[in-house]
Amino acid sequence: MNCPVCDNDECELISEEIVDGKDNSSENGCCDALCTGICGLNSGNSETKTVRYWYCEECGSKFKE
Ligand SMILES: [Zn+2]
Repeated sequence: MNCPVCDNDECELISEEIVDGKDNSSENGCCDALCTGICGLNSGNSETKTVRYWYCEECGSKFKE
């Protein structure tokens, strides 16, 4: 993979994990033990995505394939 900026051909493929999802901590304000199961279901909204991109050590550019 060549860098589109400086044409260096030793770019590095980087994998980065990003947590995607809304912050629902305010919705989980319930402390009742009976509610734990229901609140537990609602807390699974965040999702981890893996983003992959190329990084050029020569000029510091990041670009997609
Ligand atoms: Zn470069």
